[in-house]
Amino acid sequence: MAKKSILEERLQTVQNRIAEACVKARRDPSEVTLVAVTKTAGPETIREIVQLGVQDLGESRVQQLVQRASQLHEMFQRRKTHGVPQTSLPPVRWHMIGHLQRNKVKQLLPHVHCIHSVDSLRLAEEIDEIGMKTRSKVPVMLQINASEEPQKHGVAVGAAIHLGEQIATMPGLQLVGLMTMAELTDDESVIRNAFRRTREIFEEMKWHKIGGPDFKHLSMGMSHDFEIAIQEGSTMVRIGSALFGGAATETEIPEE
Ligand SMILES: *Cc1c(COP(=O)(O)O)cnc(C)c1O
Repeated sequence: MAKKSILEERLQTVQNRIAEACVKARRDPSEVTLVAVTKTAGPETIREIVQLGVQDLGESRVQQLVQRASQLHEMFQRRKTHGVPQTSLPPVRWHMIGHLQRNKVKQLLPHVHCIHSVDSLRLAEEIDEIGMKTRSKVPVMLQINASEEPQKHGVAVGAAIHLGEQIATMPGLQLVGLMTMAELTDDESVIRNAFRRTREIFEEMKWHKIGGPDFKHLSMGMSHDFEIAIQEGSTMVRIGSALFGGAATETEIPEE
């Protein structure tokens, strides 16, 4: 058997850790989707992880997402015309996970599957308006500032449910869940609290039937805290550095 690449080994390690965390939390591993965050990965590495079966890819900046989505598409098109069989390749879904400015929505929409980072009414309205003109309903998540750090993006905990209700009524949007980022700390209880608070908002919204049956995702957990997130109910973990290496923990870089 061929020797495994570093990427293949890292992917397997991450998948095993996800499975173990699920067992520990008495959850079915099929409830948790891995979103591979490609910030620090080059085009060849991205292609490789897709060929290893990862369908969900994430980027935190519009320009990078658009560029990489186009590159990947082209790469697969080229291989197709050269007769490389593509039948086993699953379709790729791109997730926008970073802060989104309204003036970049139009550029983003043709390439993105789901936007995790909706945190204001004005942004939601912009996606709704452009989305209705150009494509079918855009799956979005509401980003919650559960750690209540003032410099962080996301809607305040106290305003989340009201904004969620407004988004759920927009015809161009499909509210599919909530997203949060825990504080960057070694204090497990602080991390756990942020996830737990987001889960509570999620349960309350479900109880009020906001978003309907498609409202089912909790996008929580990154390389350093995904096991805690899975214990607290995450259905999507966004993992970069544990797969691709590099210091991709700087997550609040302003848009250029
Ligand atoms: C970069 C980033 C991630 C991945 O972070 P890692 O620590 O590299 O796993 C997850 N979520 C968001 C919003 C990010 O910006």
